[in-house]
Amino acid sequence: MTRPRVAVVGAGPAGSTAARLLAERGAEVRLFEARPLPRPKTCGGGLTPKAQRLVPTLALKAVERRVERVELRGPHGSPFRLVAPAAGIAMVERERFDLALVEAAVRAGADVEDDNPVRELREDGSGVDLRTHEGHWRADVVVAADGEPSRAARQLGLGGPARRRALALEVDLPLANGLPNDTAILDFAIPGGYGWYFPKGDHANVGVGSHDPPRYLRLRDDLARLTDELGLHLGATRVQGHWIPQGLRIGRLASERVILAGDAAATADPLFGEGISYAILSGIAAAQTIDAWEDGSIRGLRSYDGRLRAVLGPPLERLDMLARAAEVSINGALFLARLSGRVRERAVDAIAGRRAPFVIDGQCELACACSLHELEPPPMALVSSKQEPGRFRHCEQCTARCAA
Ligand SMILES: Cc1cc2nc3c(=O)[nH]c(=O)nc-3n(C[C@H](O)[C@H](O)[C@H](O)COP(=O)(O)OP(=O)(O)OC[C@H]3O[C@@H](n4cnc5c(N)ncnc54)[C@H](O)[C@@H]3O)c2cc1C
Repeated sequence: MTRPRVAVVGAGPAGSTAARLLAERGAEVRLFEARPLPRPKTCGGGLTPKAQRLVPTLALKAVERRVERVELRGPHGSPFRLVAPAAGIAMVERERFDLALVEAAVRAGADVEDDNPVRELREDGSGVDLRTHEGHWRADVVVAADGEPSRAARQLGLGGPARRRALALEVDLPLANGLPNDTAILDFAIPGGYGWYFPKGDHANVGVGSHDPPRYLRLRDDLARLTDELGLHLGATRVQGHWIPQGLRIGRLASERVILAGDAAATADPLFGEGISYAILSGIAAAQTIDAWEDGSIRGLRSYDGRLRAVLGPPLERLDMLARAAEVSINGALFLARLSGRVRERAVDAIAGRRAPFVIDGQCELACACSLHELEPPPMALVSSKQEPGRFRHCEQCTARCAA
């Protein structure tokens, strides 16, 4: 096949990652972004170690602060402080972080069209027509990474409802006086969710989220209560809100020529609503699937659905079960975390990404940002390293990062 023409819709972490990896492999990639770049994104901007491992080093220049202590607060009892360098969270502003991911895609050879929303997609047997206000573009295949709600998915009859969906509000406020700047706070006094305080460079991001519909209308009050407790004043500060779709969508995640990635596929975790690392992971899986299609190992892109569910389904289900258990008794869950070193260790493992799908048998299952360079063909093998461990290999940089 001549160079495949790939359209990527949406320049968030999922789309930029897919665009970068495919451009590196020689595809003709056009990354469409609806808004002018850099664009803000409603988000806490907390990058867990697993997200940090998956991005090019360049993007880590956007990190404003690193936090190795997390204070856990429940509805009752005294707060409990977890000190865990291995689970250290890097704080970013999404505007800068996402721009760095786009820049990495451009360096790899992708063309970016920002301020140019894709209005319509039409798939036929041999490709996809995309219409924007600037005209038409014909792609062989498309990665739809246009976030929540995904207009592309709706137009093409893909996706459907997420297994879970949380509503989250966030606001930027000054750093709280009297609180250490190396400590994040998670507040579990909110039914069906939690609140957070993330210290950044010269300000803090404070937010609340819940997947419990009766709670949605009270989230603003929850945010006011949390900011008060932190000694901050919410007042008339502009609060942003958005959905976090979680646990994968119930309907198809791919057709013959289109793949859904990131929030468009509802890849975020149902326990904490962590979305960035999973979005990147799905961008990697999307690039690998298109690569396999291009070299003839698979005929269409439909198999992406099964592969993504095989890789992300079990861990997301486990996190969903944990979320439900914690809802039964959040005090019990916090008590266990306080009491049991083993529970704390498991929590740190999950945040750090020391378990599948981020790491398996000491290696990343699907996760190395470099994977497309270093893998002996075909790259499909990456997704099932359990079955084909011998075909999985890291570049030196990733080996060093994974060992760290
Ligand atoms: C309040 C809040 C706090 C959060 N905090 C965290 C956190 O601390 N850590 C974490 O890991 N996750 C967090 N998340 C989740 C995280 O923000 C998302 O899961 C993540 O951004 C998903 O990435 P994505 O690439 O799929 O989509 P997005 O980042 O949403 O990117 C989608 C892009 O597509 C573009 N787009 C949309 N329509 C079109 C179109 N028609 N044509 C072209 N472009 C289009 C959009 O403009 C956007 O740039 C939070 C979410 C919320 C709402």
